[in-house]
Amino acid sequence: MSELKPLAYLDNNATTQVDPKVLETMLPYLSEHYGNPSSIHQFGEQVGKALELARTQVQTMIGASHSSEIIFTSCATEATTTAIMSALEAFPQRKEVITSVIEHPATLDLCQTLARKGYKIHWIEVDSRGRLDMEAYKKALSPNVAIASFMWANNETGSLFPIRGMAELAKQHDVLFHTDAVQVAGKLPIQVADSGIDLLSLSGHKFHAPKGVGALYLRRGAKFRPLLRGGHQERGRRAGTENSSGIVALGKACELAQLSIEQDSPRISMLRDRLEQGLLAKVPNCFVTGDPRHRVPNTSNIAFEFVEGESILLMLDQHGIAASSGSACTSGSLEPSHVMRAMDIPYTAAHGAIRFSLSRFTTDTMIDQVLAVLPGIIAKLRMLSPYWDAAADQPAQESFSPVYG
Ligand code: PLP
Repeated sequence: MSELKPLAYLDNNATTQVDPKVLETMLPYLSEHYGNPSSIHQFGEQVGKALELARTQVQTMIGASHSSEIIFTSCATEATTTAIMSALEAFPQRKEVITSVIEHPATLDLCQTLARKGYKIHWIEVDSRGRLDMEAYKKALSPNVAIASFMWANNETGSLFPIRGMAELAKQHDVLFHTDAVQVAGKLPIQVADSGIDLLSLSGHKFHAPKGVGALYLRRGAKFRPLLRGGHQERGRRAGTENSSGIVALGKACELAQLSIEQDSPRISMLRDRLEQGLLAKVPNCFVTGDPRHRVPNTSNIAFEFVEGESILLMLDQHGIAASSGSACTSGSLEPSHVMRAMDIPYTAAHGAIRFSLSRFTTDTMIDQVLAVLPGIIAKLRMLSPYWDAAADQPAQESFSPVYG
């Protein structure tokens, strides 16, 4: 098998490498510390203590008041599903949910399913920069709503919703508020205590823990009904024997993020800005999507007009560069992502949207590598595009100038 080692891994919103310190901390829980944390003998007790330390580490990273407010899950999808389904079960008379049109499929698909079952979903729209229609959000809040659920940062653009203010508004209407903080955890400081946030989901593999572990923050006192029933793990709130090694790893990843976030964030955003500015200067007809003033430090989504994102990705891959596009292959044709469509990015640009997502392991050399090869790739692909006039080296049709309000 050939060695698969990208030279420039810039797909950290998809998943991150496990930090070597995280790996070292978790390994004993795959070997000598194999006890069941629920057992009362010392094999189990020792593991139980490690889980409680991890709970405190997660609590500290998100600024929760009590470690008991943290419930370990298998991933963020499970945490988000638990949050929404719990609210509907805890408030059976409330048949409405509020969310946005640019959520991750973990929320989107669940809400579409709920709509088919007769629940009313308020789908709040965004503008051309991915900013939420706050007036529509305020209008949707009512005593009929069981839960409002919004992503904190968008996984494709990195744009942030004003979650703290939105949670306060929900509180004023006595509506539970959940945020999918998957793309914020480990990237920006989080402080849930004294906020209106009742529930928050996160996923370990997005910030240097392994895959298969996540957490749900549940504010003390908030009404809750478990999704998984059975054993009494997690104080009866999530049945199933805990993924001890994964949880220990998640705790360590939270500790490391907490320690390094202040130093890492400015460095990562400088690298991101250098990449962005370099590409905007070298490549004609491209622009940054989303809200450049309110976004996480690690994400840049650039739309290259008149080229196919998948082709860009394949050619970048040949140069050892890993990035991603928002396109999804639906019935044989590549459709721009729901996020690009919701922002009304024209098809000719949305098709060529590429997401670069960095991490604390991203280096200057990786950025140089992209800047060295991508302009050439775009030029080559445009020569083949029917919408590009190769002779004049300009669009053969009117190009899109983003008008951002
Ligand atoms: N929410 C957001 C914003 C994401 O980016 C992702 C993963 O990409 C998820 C939820 C789902 O996370 P997981 O795969 O851990 O369930």
